[in-house]
Amino acid sequence: MQQEKKYVYPFAEAYGLGKELLGGKGAGLAEMTHIGVPIPQGFTITTEACSLYYESGKVLPDYLVSAIKNEVKGIEKITGKHFGGNHNPLLVSVRSGARVSMPGMMDTILNLGLNDVTVAALASETGNERFAFDCYRRFILMFTNIAKGHPRIEMDKMLESIKEHKHYKGDTDLTADDLKGLVVKYKAHYKKVFGEDFPSDPYIQLIEAVTSVFRSWDNPRANVYRKMNNIPYSWGTAVTVQSMAFGNKGDTSGTGVAFSRSPSTGEKQVFAEYLPNAQGEDVVAGIRTPLDIDSLRKILPEVHKQFLDTIKLMETHYKDMQDMEFTVEDGKLYFLQTRNGKRTAAAALKIACDLVDEKLITEEEAVLRVEAKSLDSLLHPSFDPKELKKLKSIGEGLPASPGAATGKIAFTAAEAHKRHEAGEKIVLVRAETSPEDIEGMVAAEGILTMRGGMTSHAAVVARGMGKCCVVGCSTVEIDEEARTLKLSGKIYTDKDIISLDGSTGSVYDGDIKRVETALTGQFGRLMAWADSYRTLRVRANADTPKDADQAVKYGAEGIGLCRTEHMFFGKDRIFNMRKMILAETVAEREKALEDLLPYQQSDFYGLFMSMKDKNVNIRLLDPPLHEFLPQEEDKIEELAKALNLSVEHVKNRISFLHEFNPMMGHRGCRLDVSYPEIGKMQTRAIIRAALQAQKDLGHAVVPEIMVPLVLEIREFKFVKNIIVEIADEEIKKSGQELHYEVGTMIEIPRAALLASEIATEAKFFSFGTNDLTQMTFGFSRDDAGKFLPDYYATKIFEQDPFQTIDQRGVGRLVKMAVVEGRAANPTLHVGVCGEHGGDPVSIEFFHNVGLDYVSCSPFRVPVARLAAAQAAIKAKRAAAKK
Ligand code: PEP
Ligand code: MG
Repeated sequence: MQQEKKYVYPFAEAYGLGKELLGGKGAGLAEMTHIGVPIPQGFTITTEACSLYYESGKVLPDYLVSAIKNEVKGIEKITGKHFGGNHNPLLVSVRSGARVSMPGMMDTILNLGLNDVTVAALASETGNERFAFDCYRRFILMFTNIAKGHPRIEMDKMLESIKEHKHYKGDTDLTADDLKGLVVKYKAHYKKVFGEDFPSDPYIQLIEAVTSVFRSWDNPRANVYRKMNNIPYSWGTAVTVQSMAFGNKGDTSGTGVAFSRSPSTGEKQVFAEYLPNAQGEDVVAGIRTPLDIDSLRKILPEVHKQFLDTIKLMETHYKDMQDMEFTVEDGKLYFLQTRNGKRTAAAALKIACDLVDEKLITEEEAVLRVEAKSLDSLLHPSFDPKELKKLKSIGEGLPASPGAATGKIAFTAAEAHKRHEAGEKIVLVRAETSPEDIEGMVAAEGILTMRGGMTSHAAVVARGMGKCCVVGCSTVEIDEEARTLKLSGKIYTDKDIISLDGSTGSVYDGDIKRVETALTGQFGRLMAWADSYRTLRVRANADTPKDADQAVKYGAEGIGLCRTEHMFFGKDRIFNMRKMILAETVAEREKALEDLLPYQQSDFYGLFMSMKDKNVNIRLLDPPLHEFLPQEEDKIEELAKALNLSVEHVKNRISFLHEFNPMMGHRGCRLDVSYPEIGKMQTRAIIRAALQAQKDLGHAVVPEIMVPLVLEIREFKFVKNIIVEIADEEIKKSGQELHYEVGTMIEIPRAALLASEIATEAKFFSFGTNDLTQMTFGFSRDDAGKFLPDYYATKIFEQDPFQTIDQRGVGRLVKMAVVEGRAANPTLHVGVCGEHGGDPVSIEFFHNVGLDYVSCSPFRVPVARLAAAQAAIKAKRAAAKK
């Protein structure tokens, strides 16, 4: 009975059988074959064969072995290659493929089919003996270690000892003869361990390899992974056997990478790089700078045409920009891989809009296609085009990642990091980058490399970071020892400034004026779509009319937080503030506050005028008072003199105000409990400004007065009474009507715990998640940076809780306070104004717990609008699935 069941499917016959039977990889290869993408052909052994293997006592029944051998014949027919042949040998990869991806958990064997005969054929056909023997020795190692389960340690030692003996730095220094010698040693070792020769019959190799992949389904790491990810053991893994393609077989062979549209700008044009007679690794490692794809057209025009047609086919099928690897072997084109391509924010916008226009995706899909955080990079400046016109570049490279960077030259990543910490703006210049350069890349304004293409390390990493990057500027001559570089005949040192234009690939001498990026129509289009899906409102944290105007420009729907303390730092203001803080009596304090009132009033007036009919949330004074007092001796003396006080008296007051834990000290509404006159002055200024703005605008304005750091309803009521008394008095005096609201921040865990009580008196809650995180974790906002890296290194934390909301802890407090607050006061409106209000992951959480709005810095408003839309769409889709 069982023999009749089919366990092995060539890719060409497997379409539609599903991941359950073929595994993710097998299903993907069948799909590519089905739509007509030329891929190295092969077959998939189903997940049912895996169950059969275990049911048969961990052996492959004979009929399964025959079926596998039979399909090898099929590949031979398709490819014209011979398994174990002495010319044009067929080599295959054997890979696992579960229903869901389990990266690195199971086994893979490459170049299977190599033996003394086929290796000679591979060497002569690639003209590269070193390459052939490197493949061979790797295959023996993989087979011994993976298929036969023997530890690799002794074989690794054999390689190391050659390197040591010959003083080689890396594996690439090994010669063809070294590798041949290694093959002999590996085989002798195999014989010693297993008491038999290394199998030269490729069919024996294949059956062993397939068996080992099935066996690896049950290895300890796969079991742990499955448990962690709720993957049932009963699923089993499929095995794909696929022919290997070689791009280094001469002039009609080659390899390359391609994007179906520009990953930098989104322009609808295939962007590809090609290296004739090369392996994929040569391109990715940036060892050789690839050529334009036109070189393929010149050598193999038919292949070039097929290449372009296939890319179009894949885009239409996958409905997104594709990032592909391809190989041409003896004039035959193969795509090795395709996936949705990484792209810059500008490219993502253009591609999303274009795909909507091409009717490939819906507007809703387009909104999900642009990573919210990536919009940041669109909102940053570029070089002034007028200035650029006047300049001649000193070098040209590839425009790997857009932006405008200016800085002094650093030659190593460590140097870039150090000098950045010391306050310098740096451009990191390297021959090429590698992963250990990451810290320097983060620190630099921009990165310039001499070697590498658009898919080299520097290009990929910088694009991911949204950082300006120019790669492959081959005219730059770097002398790392002398710490100089030569460009256009001039020697530059670490004292010199250069500028990079990441959108064109040009390098310039000196500093260049920058301008704000003009947002394209596509930005407006996508934002309009986003706005139509989101339910969460987006406000801005803004303290000045300038910030407020910027916020409105970016679509803010109100101010969610005005930190009034930021308004006291102007020259005359700080003097009056200090006078108020040092006052001995209430009368003195009131006098100083009276002098501050006009400043506050005019600032608030400016905000109301900028925001027009949108809500403006103004928070009463929050920081501890010592923050406003001078520290330096001469400033203290100056203040004492101006206030006609002794220096000693001023010093005594400063030391009296000093606190061991100022963030847990005399701050927030505690100041109003001690000095109600502060809250009174601020309320007066807010209400007077609102009344004036209302008159001048000709329509109502809505001030929200927010009390910081509340922890108890009686405390909130105390401050609220002060506010209401003054506000009503001012409104009455004006003869106008004004609707205002008094609410509170929720930023102390006790306030969240007692939200149902506080909500009976508050019109609104605004979660101050900066303090709420600080107080819930017991981590100082100012100092945690010192030790948090240890928490990331030890995997105790994976994210900075001050950046992305801790959903399980702090988030739980937020959720509870929203639910209980609303139950006590159904008209309560709730928002968040901590830094998390601009973080996309946190925004999704805030959407899901039902906040009315998030508030963030003006530049992050578009990010928040898009993130809010994505959260709404995802929630809608998840609900529909249920
Ligand atoms: C907060 O604590 O989250 C907040 C917005 O207030 P601040 O950052 O001013 O303390
Ligand atoms: Mg706070």
